[in-house]
Amino acid sequence: MRLDLKKFFSGGAEPETVRCTVDLSEVELDGEKPFVSPVEVEAEIRTAAEGVAFLAKTRYVTEQACARCLRTVRREESKAFSHLLVREDEEDLPEDCVAVGGDVLDLDELIYTDVLLSAPAKVLCREDCKGLCPKCGRNLNDGPCGCETGETDPRLAALRELIDETD
Ligand SMILES: [Zn+2]
Ligand SMILES: [Zn+2]
Repeated sequence: MRLDLKKFFSGGAEPETVRCTVDLSEVELDGEKPFVSPVEVEAEIRTAAEGVAFLAKTRYVTEQACARCLRTVRREESKAFSHLLVREDEEDLPEDCVAVGGDVLDLDELIYTDVLLSAPAKVLCREDCKGLCPKCGRNLNDGPCGCETGETDPRLAALRELIDETD
């Protein structure tokens, strides 16, 4: 969606709320397409002292593989993003502002950038996910598999002693 901001830049316009959805279903992150639902956007736009204030509340669902056990992690996100929009040809641009060319804001592009920048580098199904057994591949969150993984490895045993000592 493209928004004409001219009246907000000129001042005197009433604040407006814009609702739309942004489809990120084809966007890939680490070989996955995590944005399984459209991003629902409710954006508030108002004239501000140095430009146009933009506040967007977003809601969307992501599905990504747990970085340790590969189980699908479904998350319902609700995030807010705010920006000061300024005219592109403005001199002395304030820091952290978004420059808008021709008074027209590409809302989809801004939301795309906000959502991607806020995406976590990796997701875990839970903080203490035990991951997969390196020997048999069993998901260790479901219980021990019975493999003797590393328990008899002398190097690991030595390491474990070291860790115990420093506790
Ligand atoms: Zn996991
Ligand atoms: Zn195993």
